[in-house]
Amino acid sequence: MCGVVGYVGYRKAAPILINGLKRLEYRGYDSAGLVALDKDNQPRRYRGVGRVKNLEKQIQGEDLVATCGISHTRWATHGKPTEGNAHPHADISNKFFVVHNGIIENHAKLRAQLEADGVTFSSETDTEVIVQLVGRNFKGSLEGAVEEVLKVIEGTFGIAVVSSEDPGKIVAARRGSPVVLGIGRDEMFIASDVGALVPYTDQVVYLEDNDLAVMTATDYQVLSFDHVPIKRKTSMIDWTVEEGERGDYPHFMLKEIYEQAETVRNAMRGRVQLSEGVAVLGGLQSKIHQIQHLKKLIIVSCGTSYHAGMIGRHIFENLTEISVEVELASEFRYRRLRLDETVGVIAISQSGETIDTLAAIREARRKGALTIGLVNVVGSTIARETECGVYCHAGPEIGVASTKIFVSQLVILNLMALLIGRYQSVSLSEGINIIKCLQELPDQISGILKNAPRLEELARKYEKFPNCLFIGRQIHHPVALEGALKLKEISYIHAEGYAAGEMKHGPISLIDENFPTLALVSGDASYEKMISNIQEIKARSGPVIIVTSKRTAEMDEFADDVFEVPSTHELLQPILSVVPLQLYSYYCARFRGCEIDKPRNLAKSVTVE
Ligand code: GLU
Repeated sequence: MCGVVGYVGYRKAAPILINGLKRLEYRGYDSAGLVALDKDNQPRRYRGVGRVKNLEKQIQGEDLVATCGISHTRWATHGKPTEGNAHPHADISNKFFVVHNGIIENHAKLRAQLEADGVTFSSETDTEVIVQLVGRNFKGSLEGAVEEVLKVIEGTFGIAVVSSEDPGKIVAARRGSPVVLGIGRDEMFIASDVGALVPYTDQVVYLEDNDLAVMTATDYQVLSFDHVPIKRKTSMIDWTVEEGERGDYPHFMLKEIYEQAETVRNAMRGRVQLSEGVAVLGGLQSKIHQIQHLKKLIIVSCGTSYHAGMIGRHIFENLTEISVEVELASEFRYRRLRLDETVGVIAISQSGETIDTLAAIREARRKGALTIGLVNVVGSTIARETECGVYCHAGPEIGVASTKIFVSQLVILNLMALLIGRYQSVSLSEGINIIKCLQELPDQISGILKNAPRLEELARKYEKFPNCLFIGRQIHHPVALEGALKLKEISYIHAEGYAAGEMKHGPISLIDENFPTLALVSGDASYEKMISNIQEIKARSGPVIIVTSKRTAEMDEFADDVFEVPSTHELLQPILSVVPLQLYSYYCARFRGCEIDKPRNLAKSVTVE
């Protein structure tokens, strides 16, 4: 789930490992560690609970000349976040070391066998069985020993292994958790996320499931678990070092909120033809005939991407003739599914590594559906395993709470639906109108951001309340869910999103003068009903903030506060309505002194189930 970074080359390994871990810090973790093979191949291991900077302090002043090492940030799944459970783990001889992302499902059985054989374990983790087994299976070649272990471990893993018995070498393997190799000149890198490699190389090789890699300073080889060489292509990373840095912003989240005008431009660049009213998505071209004739679309995703999917349903329903379902990936994959080639499954994931979404598309593919990816990270597993797809091209998103990628996903869902809709009943003028509205979005977003001080003021006024309700109807229902998710994940204020029509079916019982509601009101058919909902809340003394694109006198009369956003095509309105909710959550979290970019217990890319 968290970070792996490894280095073998001619430079000192420790600073590279620390820097790489820092670049992965945004993913959320609880402890960190590294091992480097120093003079005479003496292993030097450092581990600690908490931030990478604590680890950095431990090695300051140490004379570490090692040029080969592996490191890790852990997000505990088995055993508490303690120093003893932090990776790298060592075998009983202290000659073999492993870092691991994922979960070894049969660890209890393997551990019992090893203990019966006299092995004493020094941690509570599932990971330690790997390294104890590597030590026992070593017969002169590290990859040989790892291959033996891969035959017996079950579950998900991205691992890197080093040993003082076979120095100058890193052996890595993947099943379920991402591993990427960075290719340098006389140096090689390994990481769980390309973000760690950006300062060092732009040449990367993504391992696929059941790949093993052997790296030395000057060479690398990809093999199957039975030692058959495999050719994997080299990809270029197009992210810049600056994109992964905060610049003058106090938080990545704020930086990413402010990048959103550009995010919309990037999502659309080269992808629309105004005069024809069409979208041009090269990544869907190879399957366009099948896509046009789909009978059903199922959008699968998790978290914020799920909310994008829910908005996507409205978009596809309005612009295409295809019936649409949206499902949480974690639920979809366990359903008894009736799928065939007339069904398209769209997987939405920022990282392209979300384990449940990945499992969902594998299941969908197995059953014959067409799988379509909508991901940000180029070359990620979902991007590779779907039959066609579209990239967000939004650059790295570092803040754990997703903002710019959500907006990017919404733009692309509109483009996808427009692409299909123009083969169906969307007219030329409708197509042109949507594209024109899309093109206006960046300036409209900048306009909203200019009003940030007003949102800061609102946050100041309401952050003291421990609860908050978000309500909306139709396409704004998922926006309400997303607003509530943003607020709860970074400010820890308890927040719920509801379809406003559900108020009387339960949540209104919560309302009193200490329970504020943020209502998303649009000028469409739901306007009157939203106003009634707001009056019902006011009748129970609940404070109300309205976010709207159509301000009316009634709103000013009933609500405590009104925040206006520019008006656009109704299918694009969520792209504008969500921006103030992101900023509002950001300021609430800031006033409450929360660690905004790394909220407690959360990780950026969820690669364990
Ligand atoms: N399951 C392992 C542990 O709890 C690895 C967790 C991770 O992916 O960071 O130590």
